Amino acid sequence: MQCPICKSKQVGKVGADQYYCWSCFIEFTARSGEVFEIEEDGSLVALDNGKGYF
Ligand SMILES: [Zn+2]
Repeated sequence: MQCPICKSKQVGKVGADQYYCWSCFIEFTARSGEVFEIEEDGSLVALDNGKGYF
């Protein structure tokens, strides 16, 4: 598994289908290809660059 944003392999599994990138501090799901930014309060905000990350 590698980060869809920075292509780093420094990702950790945080859920059944959810991963965290230690390099650019985002979370992503492997199956749906969704990418989330983590707010200061710990909530997740979906990112969308308009072309899909996978
Ligand atoms: Zn990354």
